[in-house]
Amino acid sequence: MKSRTKIDALLRSTETGIEVTVKGWVRTKRGNKNVNFIALNDGSTINSLQIVADPTIIAEDVLKQVTTGASIAASGKLVESQGAGQTVEIHASTIEVLGAADPEKYPLQPKKHSFEFLREIAHLRPRTNTFGAVFRIRHAMAYAVHHFFNEKGFYYWHTPVITGSDAEGAGEMFRVSALDPRNPPLTEDGEIDYKQDFFEKETNLTVSGQLEGELGAMALSDIYTFGPTFRAENSNTTRHLAEFWMIEPEMAFYDLSDTMDLAEEFLKYLIQYALDHCADDLAFLEKRLIDEEKNKPAAERSEMSLTNKLRFVLENDFVRLTYSEAIQILRNSKPNKKKKFQFPIEGWGTDLQSEHERYLVEKHFKKPVILTDYPTEIKAFYMRQNDDGKTVAAMDILFPGIGEIVGGSQREERLEKLTGLMDTMGVPQDELDWYLDTRRYGSAPHSGFGLGFERMILFVTGMTNIRDVIPFPRTPGSASF
Ligand code: ATP
Ligand code: MN
Repeated sequence: MKSRTKIDALLRSTETGIEVTVKGWVRTKRGNKNVNFIALNDGSTINSLQIVADPTIIAEDVLKQVTTGASIAASGKLVESQGAGQTVEIHASTIEVLGAADPEKYPLQPKKHSFEFLREIAHLRPRTNTFGAVFRIRHAMAYAVHHFFNEKGFYYWHTPVITGSDAEGAGEMFRVSALDPRNPPLTEDGEIDYKQDFFEKETNLTVSGQLEGELGAMALSDIYTFGPTFRAENSNTTRHLAEFWMIEPEMAFYDLSDTMDLAEEFLKYLIQYALDHCADDLAFLEKRLIDEEKNKPAAERSEMSLTNKLRFVLENDFVRLTYSEAIQILRNSKPNKKKKFQFPIEGWGTDLQSEHERYLVEKHFKKPVILTDYPTEIKAFYMRQNDDGKTVAAMDILFPGIGEIVGGSQREERLEKLTGLMDTMGVPQDELDWYLDTRRYGSAPHSGFGLGFERMILFVTGMTNIRDVIPFPRTPGSASF
């Protein structure tokens, strides 16, 4: 095999006149009897490299197979390009077709395809400019997550994908079982006898690694998880997946305010990382958005371009306010008074819907917002109870266009308070004995949060449907590939 150079490296290099070999997939071929111009992309960058093929050098039957989608290897001299829009090009001395793509059948045309259509051709979707950009940014963000926490002395803590605790997401979980569904063993009462199942108990796919994460924090101080998370919630929205990735840091000796500081720093770090390392892909996505917006009525167009929006979030402090303050604002808001909300704000204690979250972020403050101190009843049993006796030390971060992107809290470290609330909420203590042990032996104040990775990618890329920021989306009724 000849050593092959990635196109990204060639387009950055200033060295010309050297012999190089590139390998990739043909985007387009144009030209005439005398010369052919091939745009080659290998996924290392959004930019394609131009290969100039002279029919007196490259055989006609080879050139005939160089069609959109074909995989080729091309060798030749790297020279300064005469054409506009590119610095260098290759003057091919040899071209080898590695895999032809029948032009009669190739599903992608050089026109725009709808994202819905592309979701159905999983093997070609990442070869489009938009999805190439999205998935390169997704990679960069994953890398940046690990970098951020590693620099801060956090440990990557692997929590189980198969969980034996169903404490958090009753009713929203995917069951994991090796029993024969047509003929399961039954107990005397006619119930399915999970004692005879693989794990000798009921097990599910995890909805969150937090509870297990807390055990890590109670020994290593600062940990984070970053793994797949599963929710069988039947919410067919543009912001929910049945399988998504979540980042959950958990920190010993942090209070709620420390946690908000960390979360804000983390989100800003990820955005800065994208601006610093994904400029070409962001520029493409920004232009895509501007083109798309031209079809919208002026009132619906966004006020800021994608990168300006990212910079705006970087340059401004997130607004911090309590749930109670938010309810006041929402109650007096125009849409509430004019009965424009689908769920009117009745009063203190109601859960906020995405329409309310987006009103606060997009209309009222026009900045990311951190809401704190929610009513106990609408939050989870493990959140630390405030002295007022009716709220907990929870925080949600709300982003424009997304709504909730982070959910977190200070955890209840006092055993009696914790078990008291578990009883009130009907959370079984015996199943969570292993968790309660952390409060029995050297309990400590601690806090953490969960960031939905795909929601972050949505924000950074300006994409609007969460299905379009993960290579293989799983949603109700859809688990192809
Ligand atoms: P929502 O109210 O939007 O459904 P949630 O309150 O269920 O969110 P948490 O349980 O707090 O969310 O999960 C933490 C984070 O995980 C959320 O802030 C969000 O970013 C992300 N998240 C939650 N559910 C999903 C999902 N089904 N698909 C993708 N991301 C999700
Ligand atoms: Mn949810």
